[in-house]
Amino acid sequence: MTHDAELYPADRLDRARAAAVAAGYDALLVSPGPDLRYLTGYEALPLERLTCLVLPAEGEAFLVVPRLEKPAAEASPVGGLGIEIAGWAETEDPYALVAGRLARGVGRVAVDDHMWAEKVFGFRAALPGAEQGLAGPLLHGLRMRKSPAEVAALRRAGAAIDRVHTRMADWLRAGRTEREVGRDIAEALLAEGHARVDFVIVASGPNGASPHHEVSDRVIGAGDPVVVDIGGTMPDGYCSDSTRTYAVGAPPADFLEYYAVLLAAQTAQTEAVRPGLTAEALDAVGRDLITAAGYGDRFIHRTGHGIGLETHEEPYIVAGSTRPLEPGMAFSVEPGVYLPGRHGARIEDIVVCTPDGGERLNVTGRELVVL
Ligand code: ZN
Ligand code: ZN
Ligand code: ZN
Repeated sequence: MTHDAELYPADRLDRARAAAVAAGYDALLVSPGPDLRYLTGYEALPLERLTCLVLPAEGEAFLVVPRLEKPAAEASPVGGLGIEIAGWAETEDPYALVAGRLARGVGRVAVDDHMWAEKVFGFRAALPGAEQGLAGPLLHGLRMRKSPAEVAALRRAGAAIDRVHTRMADWLRAGRTEREVGRDIAEALLAEGHARVDFVIVASGPNGASPHHEVSDRVIGAGDPVVVDIGGTMPDGYCSDSTRTYAVGAPPADFLEYYAVLLAAQTAQTEAVRPGLTAEALDAVGRDLITAAGYGDRFIHRTGHGIGLETHEEPYIVAGSTRPLEPGMAFSVEPGVYLPGRHGARIEDIVVCTPDGGERLNVTGRELVVL
């Protein structure tokens, strides 16, 4: 089953070019990473040898690749885009090759946000007269508004991570270490259809109070709350990310008290999603409830992040962002409450904004699961 044609339509090159021209750039330079994949479907390895999509304001787009990578590029969706794939030989200077093909007097070039500094400097040397800027602001505008095919890809990713969460009772038990449980979860991510495991957080007891804890050799004890935040990348490039908090046996009373508050907050936030609501207003929907219950200073991070070809991308759901939600935007809603030295909890769903409201792409139960 392949979704390449719908997921990676050829008109993205024209739309990116139009965005670059509108921002006053003479060329867009895109190295391997999520932006290259978004624009061409090509999942290129970031290597020391230069691979770069060159999208001039005037003239045809072309992809510069090391000759060794040319067969892989041709076999990728790039082969179907009808753009030239220019291979460079081991002894050639690929930066000079790009500079020589760009029209004289290139004044401003945009480089993708993830381009290695080594390559940014390579282009600076080859195009000494050109001012460099970041392509992120142009490309985020395209990438954060998902097409129906992209939403479908995120839905498949959401279903895959949901299947992993529903199997948690198989692995999460008192007496096992977080690392042992994490290994089983990582295996299940792949078994359920991911091509890559991006992160596995198994944060038991006091470790649950650290939102970015990964795994440790701590032995999970009876009554421990355990935050399990997991995600991976599907073969088509789209990412999953979902958190559920479990309790291994009866948890402490103070945990149950704030878990109920958190559940109400996260539910209210997912139900509040609609076009026109600003990112900061959505953040406030949950934060206000948590603050009113007395845990405001225990919710120590933003509500969420966009998701697509990267686990973290625009739009960020954070205080201070007046960006209005639009249909097609997909992002996490993941408030948390953290009591240092004790335990913590987080509930996270990916939600896509539709004309009628929010659609949750993670649909496993949000009530506390006591294993
Ligand atoms: Zn997460
Ligand atoms: Zn997340
Ligand atoms: Zn990025």
